[in-house]
Amino acid sequence: NCEMGNNNSYKFFNPKMESELSSRIKMESLLRAALQRDELSLHYQPFVNTQSQSVVGAEVLIRWHNPILGQVSPVDFIEIAEHSGQIIEIGYFVLRSALKQLAYWREIYNQDFYLAINLSPVQLKDSYLVDKIVNLLELYKIPGHLLEIELTENALIHDAAYAQEVLSKLHRKGIRLSLDDFGTGYSSLSYLQYYPFNSIKIDRSFIHNLETSEQSRQLVNTIIAMANNLQLSLVAEGVENQFQADFVAKQGANIWQGYYLGKPVDANAFAQQYLIPSMTPLF
Ligand code: C2E
Ligand code: MG
Ligand code: MG
Ligand code: MG
Repeated sequence: NCEMGNNNSYKFFNPKMESELSSRIKMESLLRAALQRDELSLHYQPFVNTQSQSVVGAEVLIRWHNPILGQVSPVDFIEIAEHSGQIIEIGYFVLRSALKQLAYWREIYNQDFYLAINLSPVQLKDSYLVDKIVNLLELYKIPGHLLEIELTENALIHDAAYAQEVLSKLHRKGIRLSLDDFGTGYSSLSYLQYYPFNSIKIDRSFIHNLETSEQSRQLVNTIIAMANNLQLSLVAEGVENQFQADFVAKQGANIWQGYYLGKPVDANAFAQQYLIPSMTPLF
């Protein structure tokens, strides 16, 4: 189907690209419908405090169930939503739904319980972002420190000065900022100096190798010690067994998260499993 035969048209009609393009477009239109048809929902994964051994908060993770595609991983659709701009609306859906849920939980359960919400770099460019968040916190009467925003390093690369302005505004509202997937990006350390982070999350690839790799143990120790020295809270993500939970606790991590306690679950399951018994230690 390539008539002109020059390099450009060859490139354009490359069948692999064409199918990637059309599947991207399909995905975009399915996503657009998803928002209207209630196909998006939120799951919550518990944070365990290493001192109290109790659930102190949760990370909010989006889920998409489509009748044709089935369950679609956020790893696959967030990037498409970022590319198309739909992430602004989806991100606002996540903030709104999660904070509404938190307000409800605060009425019946632990008043100090907090939520961590992942934010895309594209959302940082939304000039209404700070107002939207502040308005939601007011609407649901939630103090800023019970909201943590998780950002990955690549969220901050593009427009450092602007990102710093936005993050400083959030910080001044008492909202906590967390550097996600720490250790996998390019300039983690300079980010800690440049932005007002309250906490860092060690990427789960480091935790995964704790039993088998002395180097991973040393790296995790070093990152935890650094976080302690900088007075940053430290979260270990991807904890899958007792060894890993004990290791990070003993080295001074503040929080761990992972399948060892539980996978992300919907709000009802979360409340049933973690919020009612939250007064008694889990381990
Ligand atoms: P993330 O923010 O680093 O989230 C942690 C991911 O690790 C989640 O995958 C979680 O289910 C998974 N995980 C947690 N504990 C364990 C464990 O013990 N072992 C293993 N193997 N995995 C574990 P999930 O839910 O598929 O999310 C993937 C990524 O999608 C997230 O990575 C985040 O970058 C993005 N994402 C999810 N929800 C949202 C959202 O609402 N907004 C935005 N912008 N991104 C989101
Ligand atoms: Mg995260
Ligand atoms: Mg992470
Ligand atoms: Mg990740």
